[in-house]
Amino acid sequence: MIRRTMAEFDINAGLQHVLKRIELALQSRPKEINAPKPLLVAVSKTKPVECVIAAYKAGQRHFGENYVQELVEKSQHPDILAQCPDIKWHLIGHLQSNKINHVLKLPNLHMVQTVDSEKLANKIDAAWAKLQPTPSEPLRVLVQINTSGEDVKSGIDASAAPSLFKYISANLKHLQPVGIMTIGAYGFDYSNGPNPDFVALMQAHRAICEANDMPPDALQVSMGMSNDYDKAIEMGSTIVRVGTAIFGHRAAKA
Ligand SMILES: *Cc1c(COP(=O)(O)O)cnc(C)c1O
Repeated sequence: MIRRTMAEFDINAGLQHVLKRIELALQSRPKEINAPKPLLVAVSKTKPVECVIAAYKAGQRHFGENYVQELVEKSQHPDILAQCPDIKWHLIGHLQSNKINHVLKLPNLHMVQTVDSEKLANKIDAAWAKLQPTPSEPLRVLVQINTSGEDVKSGIDASAAPSLFKYISANLKHLQPVGIMTIGAYGFDYSNGPNPDFVALMQAHRAICEANDMPPDALQVSMGMSNDYDKAIEMGSTIVRVGTAIFGHRAAKA
């Protein structure tokens, strides 16, 4: 390599810092929590393709986008296709029915984290049956739960999540429900104790494992962002979605 851009240097440092803190949080996770080592999903929303490539070169493989249009553009970008052949994309934002086909035909789509109704699950299942690149390889999905009860957030009620999970695993053979996800309320003050969104998601985790006869480490839990991914891991998170701490602050959306 001839020259490193400033951005690349910063992203590498941010990534290494986050990976180190993930390791420390994992060490302080209570031993009675039976959960796998967390997966880091680097959230690249609003950041340019060069930032994704810089993180990829620093070793990162899983990336998340929450705006469909950005996922469409980045995942098909010629530089990403050429330089990031092993990239794995996660959709972490709401998926509208009329966008399903756009998303499911994208290269290197790894997981849709935001399935929150039977209707949406049915449509994704039908679309994947037609669009899947490898026949009979189901699409990984998470059931998104609205743990904070805010109307503006997507996600199914925690009480209805076990039956949605069961519905998908019993009926939709093109989908593989691998876990659950929450966004949660922003700006929780940790001096008030454990984050109630994380508590609620772990309760849903227990309920789904019991209802489906699954060991706890067989169900993924996606919770935790830049300001609290370490707290989330200590409570049992297995997928953290981290943007700012890797890529720096995002410009406000116009
Ligand atoms: C933006 C976003 C993140 C990452 O947020 P940071 O605070 O920048 O780490 C995680 N999850 C979702 C769903 C997001 O939209």
